[in-house]
Amino acid sequence: MSSTEPSQGGEPQAVAECTACSAIFPAQVTGDGGLRPIGLEDGTCTCGNVEFQSIIEA
Ligand SMILES: [Zn+2]
Repeated sequence: MSSTEPSQGGEPQAVAECTACSAIFPAQVTGDGGLRPIGLEDGTCTCGNVEFQSIIEA
């Protein structure tokens, strides 16, 4: 397992939950530690919210 290599693929690295409607999306973790939900236009939830919290199962 190597977690330091940059990934340009679409492999989910985390799970993002919308802070507004609690929708769950697979997400990539950006270089600065942010979340980038996969499959959403501009990282905006279908409800219009742009804030997500990460859910990482230990
Ligand atoms: Zn939402």
